Amino acid sequence: MEIKGKKILVVGLARTGVAVARFLASRGAKVTVTDMKEESELADYLMQLEDLDLNLELGRHDKHTFLMSDLIVVSPGVPMDISPLLMAKAQRRVVISEIELAAAFIKAPMVAITGTNGKTTTTTLAGEIFKACGVETFVGGNIGNPLIELVTSGNDVAQVVVELSSFQLEGIQRFRPKVAVLLNITEDHLDRYASYQDYIDAKLRIFENQTVDDFAVLNVDDPLVAACAATVKSRVFPFSQRKELAEGIFCSKGIIVYRWQGSELRFDTAAFKLKGVHNIENIMAALASTLLSGADPIKAGRAVESFKGLRHRMEFIREVGGVAYYEDSKGTNVGSVVKSLESFDKGITLIAGGKDKGGSYAPLADLVRERVKHLILIGEAKERIEAELGNLTDTHKAATLEDAVAIAHRLAKAGEVVLFSPACSSFDMFKDYAERAERFNAAVRALAGGDCR
Ligand code: ADP
Repeated sequence: MEIKGKKILVVGLARTGVAVARFLASRGAKVTVTDMKEESELADYLMQLEDLDLNLELGRHDKHTFLMSDLIVVSPGVPMDISPLLMAKAQRRVVISEIELAAAFIKAPMVAITGTNGKTTTTTLAGEIFKACGVETFVGGNIGNPLIELVTSGNDVAQVVVELSSFQLEGIQRFRPKVAVLLNITEDHLDRYASYQDYIDAKLRIFENQTVDDFAVLNVDDPLVAACAATVKSRVFPFSQRKELAEGIFCSKGIIVYRWQGSELRFDTAAFKLKGVHNIENIMAALASTLLSGADPIKAGRAVESFKGLRHRMEFIREVGGVAYYEDSKGTNVGSVVKSLESFDKGITLIAGGKDKGGSYAPLADLVRERVKHLILIGEAKERIEAELGNLTDTHKAATLEDAVAIAHRLAKAGEVVLFSPACSSFDMFKDYAERAERFNAAVRALAGGDCR
């Protein structure tokens, strides 16, 4: 990819925008950075660019700059359908995501992971497995550190594991991972997509440039993912919790079995610290993608056994009066709450709600009817959730998260579970899902009585 002397526009100035602008400037591009936010709101990021000679267009997007650029690099937070980008595309300007830019400069083989849920867990675990096998590995992408930071660092790693969102995949052209993993697809981000199909199509682009030399690791228990097997050009490596596979990786009676080209490996899930049905899927995907990339099976198995999982995903907080409190603030869509509810038999007091993303809550109906004894709703979405699920169980509305915890404390009986799994994003009441988690945890810790662990 030619960079030197080119007029390149970076759209969106946060951590990724800074990293991209620095990289492009170091390679001799004439860089302009644009963001709808005002200079005062971007002070922290602008400080990191102080030493560079850049054009800044802040508090606005100037369509002429878009039209005059040789290349436009879009940060993951910026929707691809804003009008200056659509106009630029119509005029055949090249519009790409940071992933596409970075990948053009990376030689190491890549495992790329996408799906509606489980991306961060699977990406982190795959990285841990490679590292436990002594493979120098960069883990990045949607997980927090932009891929371009690997290029800028000059580190010569042997392996890359990259988490990809649908937004990042929308801006690829030649991006071609050696192993592409699709974990699941359920409704999400309908506030940013014109239709569910557009979201699905964006996810499927992860396979777009693969060839027969590459692998597609597919969750064949998920009908939308399983359907890809017929269309991808790469070799399909299926995974399943429900059925035995002649080739692929599956889980039967607590044993994960990896079968590929005549060899068979077995991993006993009893030894794993990571619990939950959904995590079996994540573990199988991480094992498949690393073993297909040459990881040592014994070291891989040990890395899975010692992996404790990530914060704010079905985290046990404390027991109060025999009631166990779990925090799943990262459960920001219906698909992840389905899995959280499946992890408990019944007697669940579910606290849900937040900023509505436009999808339906109906996929939760059966589980709510069977397992949720009390449903406590918060946030902007509470009326919508009440309309869809409120008649299925005892339902309450709370003004704040603290009130919701107090109501749950009053209602839940010993031996039962209080689960905070919102099915919504946090931005109506909190800075982000981590702040929401801390507020829940503080409210639970403040409850009187009980056994604090
Ligand atoms: P992502 O990076 O895709 O958001 P995370 O690993 O951060 O995924 O998990 C986000 C939420 O989804 C958590 O609530 C977690 O419990 C749930 N989750 C994790 N893995 C899966 C999966 N394979 N299927 C459904 N839900 C999952």
